[in-house]
Amino acid sequence: MAENYDVVIVGAGPSGTLAAKHAALGGAKVVILERAAIPGQKNMSGSYFFKSFMEECWPGFKDQDFLDGHIKLGGVQFAWTPDNDYKFYGMIVQPGAETMYEMQTVFRNETDPWVAEECKKSGAEIVCATVSDAIWDGDRVIGVKSDKGDFLAPIVMDCSGLHAILGRRTGLTNWGPDKVMLGLKYIFKGDPDELRKLMNTYFDDEGNEVDYGAFPIFAGNRPEFWGAHCVCEPGRDGTINLIIYQCLAEMIANKTNIHQRAQWMLNMPPYKNILDASDFVYCNFHCLASGDLVGYVKKSYMKGMMIMGDAGGFAQPLDNFGANCAQMQGIIAGKLAAEMVKEKDYSLEKFAEFEARWKETWIADDNVPEVNRVMRNGSIDVVIDAMDEAMNFFFQKKFENYAYPAIIGGMLPKFLPVMGELPVIVGAMEGILRTGVRKAGDMMALLSGD
Ligand SMILES: Cc1cc2nc3c(=O)[nH]c(=O)nc-3n(C[C@H](O)[C@H](O)[C@H](O)COP(=O)(O)OP(=O)(O)OC[C@H]3O[C@@H](n4cnc5c(N)ncnc54)[C@H](O)[C@@H]3O)c2cc1C
Repeated sequence: MAENYDVVIVGAGPSGTLAAKHAALGGAKVVILERAAIPGQKNMSGSYFFKSFMEECWPGFKDQDFLDGHIKLGGVQFAWTPDNDYKFYGMIVQPGAETMYEMQTVFRNETDPWVAEECKKSGAEIVCATVSDAIWDGDRVIGVKSDKGDFLAPIVMDCSGLHAILGRRTGLTNWGPDKVMLGLKYIFKGDPDELRKLMNTYFDDEGNEVDYGAFPIFAGNRPEFWGAHCVCEPGRDGTINLIIYQCLAEMIANKTNIHQRAQWMLNMPPYKNILDASDFVYCNFHCLASGDLVGYVKKSYMKGMMIMGDAGGFAQPLDNFGANCAQMQGIIAGKLAAEMVKEKDYSLEKFAEFEARWKETWIADDNVPEVNRVMRNGSIDVVIDAMDEAMNFFFQKKFENYAYPAIIGGMLPKFLPVMGELPVIVGAMEGILRTGVRKAGDMMALLSGD
């Protein structure tokens, strides 16, 4: 016997829970199907949430005990590593940036169960079930198959993260290993006092411990789209999370193991200093949208279905912050679903409204297509190499006490080969600079020195 609902949602992550909340508050009969026994159990991602946005989404969040001992990010050092060696390419930022200041570390296995309970207060149900396929009526999705039976609804939402179970079954998504990174998380424990000294943490007016950008985020090295960052939390008994991402396609092509990349990271001076005096506890894995996945899904809706969050490839391209995009899309989808149920309008035009509405928000800015293009064709590496060469020349000449015209004259030829790339970079920067406080794209505003 199939169960009947107005809205069936696959996945109780950031997108699914907010979609459910807003659809249920609008009067719809909603169920979330979540494969984990407890929401968050199968999701170890989410190093940072934007705290003020979380509070808007889920009032009471900022006062929860699970935030105790977690740390806020006060700044960031950004480094590109085109040669896989330890070189900063002049793009180090260490500001007291407002955007980053509101970033709060979290563990998803702690936040998601609380969010799920809050979600239920809106009237939505959460059922522990693993969805395996869509149910069709002609070319319209009318429900899902799961290990707990069939669930039918005129509105189905794929919020299953990178698993994108319905996206793949319906053909809305069809990415392969070149679009997915494996995230490896090493957990260490160190001496909290020692960590505080190394990191120069301080306490803000609200009593939150702030990491003032002590640790670099490593990024770049096309085509692998790999990245890594480290979060140290003295207030959590000296917990250290070292997170490394590597594209599956690169691992397959080069027969490498992500632990090899991790070993390279562990020997980098900033990490080595800390980890030398700490003990390894465990490691964990999760998948992450690869940098150029963004914008890959051509359509976020079809007859009977909407797709959002990671399932729709909506992670932010540079650093893969995706929770905020997922949440915003969840809110939009949930409100639209409530409207559709009230009006009993399940036309394709109404489903298309979903895409039209999220495109009016900052999500469209955050998913800056120019950035993807620059990353995909390697322009950034080329320009960075040229800058590096030019800067080397500059420093060399400065020590020889050269006159500035001679220095500039000498540097110019080094830039000439990449002149054609510069407008692309400028276009990408302009796109990113349109972003506002909630947008992970602000990272690039920091990079540009504003
Ligand atoms: C290591 C790591 C660190 C990250 N750090 C950050 C960060 O600091 N800040 C940030 O904003 N983003 C971060 N991200 C990205 C962020 O986690 C995602 O963008 C965000 O979780 C996407 O939300 P979502 O609702 O689309 O999907 P998810 O959070 O992936 O939720 C999907 C849910 O669907 C369930 N599900 C999957 N398949 C099925 C199925 N077949 N049947 C039933 N249920 C199913 C899953 O169990 C899960 O609960 C990180 C990701 C990783 C891997």
